[in-house]
Amino acid sequence: ALQTTGLGKSYGQNTVLRDITLDVQRGETLCLIGPSGSGKSTLLKCLNLLEAPDAGEIWLGETCLTAPGADVDAARARIGMVFQHFNLFPHMSVERNVTLALTSVKGMGREQARQIALRQLEAVGLAAFADRRPAQLSGGQQQRVAIARALAMEPELMLFDEATSALDPELVKDVLAVMRDLASGGMTMAVVTHEMGFAREAADRVAFMCDGRLAEIDTPDRIFERADHPRLRQFLSQVL
Ligand code: ATP
Ligand code: MG
Repeated sequence: ALQTTGLGKSYGQNTVLRDITLDVQRGETLCLIGPSGSGKSTLLKCLNLLEAPDAGEIWLGETCLTAPGADVDAARARIGMVFQHFNLFPHMSVERNVTLALTSVKGMGREQARQIALRQLEAVGLAAFADRRPAQLSGGQQQRVAIARALAMEPELMLFDEATSALDPELVKDVLAVMRDLASGGMTMAVVTHEMGFAREAADRVAFMCDGRLAEIDTPDRIFERADHPRLRQFLSQVL
């Protein structure tokens, strides 16, 4: 579904991504792990074209997103993204937060958008909260609204960047449960996470990033049980 070849990115003198070649197969969940500053967020932002890579290519299906003149808005509409901070619009109802892109980006009618929003809110267990404002929801509920909002666009690929890191511990599990359901339901996902339990159970493959490189990419079993890369072993010994 997604493929990158030789992706590179620098901020001034600071080279943040080096020669990243990876793929996420249709229906696959790829978890990205690695130390702070290793380039995980930058990689996700490049995949979504929120940052422009300075080398390499990104392919989403048959579309080269990095080709000159590529339709960036059309590409972004095919990719859902959920960040650490949910970025819901505070002055709009939960339902309107979910329908906004449907009506404004997809040009869908209000009623059809409402039906889709209610279905997505139901899927994340929040149908009863449709009329509330985001501030009247817990952090975990808000994050599930953000997931519903992304899913309402029927993305081909979902990107998650530490979607649970800003949440109180007791709220994390509901969000992870939604992500697990998505993964087992066949969504294609790239997930940056510090939740090693999630990576171990929900990922088809785990990628370890280190100093801007893709240092290892393998099954969870081989990453967690048989890591021989010294930096990976060191990283795991710190987080497990
Ligand atoms: P964390 O686990 O802490 O979220 P990360 O792996 O997501 O870390 P990135 O946020 O991708 O790491 O950052 C990688 C490097 O790029 C860091 O050295 C960071 O300082 C630098 N960087 C990130 N964004 C920018 C930016 N907009 N301008 C300049 N440097 C940046
Ligand atoms: Mg990050």
